[in-house]
Amino acid sequence: AGLVLTLSACGSSQKTADQAPASGAASAAGGLVGVTMPTKSSERWIHDGDNIKAALEKLGYKVDLQYAENDIPTQVNQIENQITKGAKLLVIASIDGTAITTQLQEAADRKIPVIAYDRLIRNSPNVDYYATFDNFKVGVEQANSLVKGLGTGAGPFNVELFAGSPDDNNATFFFNGAMSVLKPLMDSGKLVVKSTQTDFARAAILRWDPATAQRRMEDLLTKTYTGGAKVAGVLSPYDGLSIGILSALKSNGYGTAGQPYPVVTGQDAEVASVKSIIAGEQYSTIFKDTRILADTTVKMADAVLKGGKPEVNNTTDYDNGKKVVPSFLLQPVTVDKANYQKELVDSGYYTAGQLK
Ligand code: BGC
Repeated sequence: AGLVLTLSACGSSQKTADQAPASGAASAAGGLVGVTMPTKSSERWIHDGDNIKAALEKLGYKVDLQYAENDIPTQVNQIENQITKGAKLLVIASIDGTAITTQLQEAADRKIPVIAYDRLIRNSPNVDYYATFDNFKVGVEQANSLVKGLGTGAGPFNVELFAGSPDDNNATFFFNGAMSVLKPLMDSGKLVVKSTQTDFARAAILRWDPATAQRRMEDLLTKTYTGGAKVAGVLSPYDGLSIGILSALKSNGYGTAGQPYPVVTGQDAEVASVKSIIAGEQYSTIFKDTRILADTTVKMADAVLKGGKPEVNNTTDYDNGKKVVPSFLLQPVTVDKANYQKELVDSGYYTAGQLK
């Protein structure tokens, strides 16, 4: 009993009583939607999951929401279970974007549509839609903020580069976006990556693990920043990594009046990092409003389940190796000490009390 694409997008809400509803749409109404998120160890995914669940339930769907604590086999099992339980649609924020090909084939065989959430699912033709932020732009904004934080001096400024998990398609988009801004400044000599570790592979942090980032920063400081050399900026793609990086810096004497922290970027506007920004430690973060992403995804899901075509705004950028996945891209917002109040508190994302 899969989805039967019979009702038109606008027709679905205008059925008259004597029309027998198409079987697919009938079973979709109130049907089960499977939602899998990578981990609860990062706050953002908790917001994402909660927001999607609430919005789907409001529309009358049942929701099976699962977290896999960044363990790939666990996520694979969760998706398999949802298929077995008769899910009518799957929303997946994958851990490894290439590891669920078999499950997606199973879903396709049962005509269960799949929406990739935030992270592109790679190497499978069985991904129907993708809802995310403009990931290249996230990287551009991180780099712009790093450069802004370094100030107007001519430099040269010592900077170090961190990237996200190599199995997450977003990580390369973030890094490439950032490098589109930083590379010309490295070429001109304004920015110097003193460790020489400028390639994605050396900068990448598997599974976005804060402790791994902390260790890498410790290593960079003890091996590269000898004889009084200081680091002026760190490109960090995610708040969790930024926290690890800042603690490595702290244990190496940074964060004092005489030796302030370098400019450290981030992403997700997680509470601990926003507090750190307010305290003058982390410099900035990228705010991606998970309320809007969840909303966009639920609209997509509802349209698909009612046999319609969801709205997309990008059909060129997200090639997953098997197809270009029609996508809806949202816009990220850079947040620093100057605008956190407006973006995060006035917008209702956090209460002022949460940031105290
Ligand atoms: C998300 C980021 C997040 C990172 C680590 C990425 O796929 O787009 O928002 O910081 O994963 O969880």
